[in-house]
Amino acid sequence: MALSKLTSLYQAIISEQASNPAYRGHISGGSVIELHNPTCGDVIALSLLLDEAGTIVDIAFEGEGCTISMASASMMCAAVKGKKDKDSLSLAGLFSDMIQGKTDHQEVEMLGEAAALSGVSQFPQRIKCATLSWNALKKALEVEGKRR
Ligand code: ZN
Repeated sequence: MALSKLTSLYQAIISEQASNPAYRGHISGGSVIELHNPTCGDVIALSLLLDEAGTIVDIAFEGEGCTISMASASMMCAAVKGKKDKDSLSLAGLFSDMIQGKTDHQEVEMLGEAAALSGVSQFPQRIKCATLSWNALKKALEVEGKRR
């Protein structure tokens, strides 16, 4: 692994953590999905609220875990808030491809700040940390889809 890649990855994550605690919390009245990543000990409880049209009007998470899992959760919230459920699922698929190193530079720009985590593809043991919140998103949208 290249040290410069590791350094820039962590710099991106640390600056994100410092600048964006905005998505910490719980949305009352929304669906809540709790997931954990046993290989690392990360836990996340994601709550979100959709409007009639399937737009994610509010989203937040509670949890504890490594820096990558928590930063990824915050970036995920930022990426999908205000987006339609279907578009959010597309982003989840894109993130999953990115984290496995299957995307090009232009595609990942759609992920916004979450694209900063593309370097995690160099560290296979951390992929589950980065995808935990996105998996919670997919589950939550599934539950919401069944409710409507
Ligand atoms: Zn982790």
